Amino acid sequence: MDTLTLTPESDFPTPPETTTATTTAAPPAERPRFSDFPLREELLRAIEAAGYTHPTPIQAAVLPPLLDGRDIFGQAQTGSGKTAAFGIPTINRLRPTGVVGAIVLVPTRELCRQVTDELEKLAQGSGLHILSVYGGTRMRGQFTALERGVDIVVGTPGRVIDHLGRGTLQIDRVKIVILDEADEMLDIGFAEDIERILRRTPRERQTMLFSATMPGWVQRLVRRYQRSPVHIAIESEHATVATVAQRYYEVAERDKLEGFLSFEEEFGRDARLLIFRRMQVGVDRLAQQLTREGWLAQALHGGMAQADRTRTIDAYRNGDLRVLIATNVAARGLDIPDITHVINYDIPQNPEEYIHRIGRTARAGKTGVAMTFVGEWDYPYLEAIKAQVGDVLQPATLPIYQR
Ligand code: AMP
Repeated sequence: MDTLTLTPESDFPTPPETTTATTTAAPPAERPRFSDFPLREELLRAIEAAGYTHPTPIQAAVLPPLLDGRDIFGQAQTGSGKTAAFGIPTINRLRPTGVVGAIVLVPTRELCRQVTDELEKLAQGSGLHILSVYGGTRMRGQFTALERGVDIVVGTPGRVIDHLGRGTLQIDRVKIVILDEADEMLDIGFAEDIERILRRTPRERQTMLFSATMPGWVQRLVRRYQRSPVHIAIESEHATVATVAQRYYEVAERDKLEGFLSFEEEFGRDARLLIFRRMQVGVDRLAQQLTREGWLAQALHGGMAQADRTRTIDAYRNGDLRVLIATNVAARGLDIPDITHVINYDIPQNPEEYIHRIGRTARAGKTGVAMTFVGEWDYPYLEAIKAQVGDVLQPATLPIYQR
């Protein structure tokens, strides 16, 4: 059964005046190369230095309309190469003037750093200055950079509004506005801030909007703030999710820890685990319990200081830390390669969240395992998830319940 794909055309109505181009990966022989696109020399060199030879499906789909100056509305996930998909045309179009020419809005600080890193890589040799502005850090460094001149700003909406209010950031001459993970920004409560920011930008702008799903507000953004955008839906989760072995385990709440520990052997020494819990306090508690059991595990949630979050993510990314326990929000948009197991210690509360979570594993053609604990009260959630993902989600029995 092929129900794993979040096929946007059937699940979400396409807004009017939108051209839809659903693209799936072409076989290798037909794949275009970056050098087939009219990109500037130094940008092609930076792309090559980054080690990219072929555009990913989303990149191949959005490059032509974006290089033509069109607006696009893209449905693609983190991990699809979407940052470079909007970054390459942006960098190709801007010249280093020190006047903000593009602004990228992202939901979280982590994504802000990740997007900035990727853009910096691609902007090598272009002379463009990129600045990330997000909350939880001091503003002084950002003031200094803004005074010196910045070409591309990557920011969370709240902090961007702060800067606009203080007059330290001008966006009245931007040529390009990018909204990354618009649905996530809506969930976090940034809808109003985003519209305020959009209204401060020139009408003559190119607007790129990315969102995995299309709630009403996102559809309204498309209608209000975009000009006949090209709609591109990439079924990237399909490829990812299809290679994830998905199992669920019925477990009494009080047995969850023991149930989890009983998988130690199955996980093996090289496993890299991402464990989701619903509440910050649950994340902290499990981190303590696992540490007590001798695991190298750390917590990641929005209640932690930014410096601690950054340190934890870096340790997890470079392999020093094998087990990360996180809330949904903290893990949003994280691009960490080589996660072998995603464990829903607390079940996700809707199918979209489930797909987002398990899409963290099995990146880049690797296989992964997603395990979901189903507690006494979780059956309605399980049913909703099963209805969306189908038979690939299989029941299994915890080793502690096998006799
Ligand atoms: P993103 O979806 O933007 O978070 O990107 C996911 C990962 O894919 C990042 O680590 C990128 O550096 C990498 N990436 C982006 N474009 C390409 C490409 N054309 N070829 C290989 N890797 C890429």
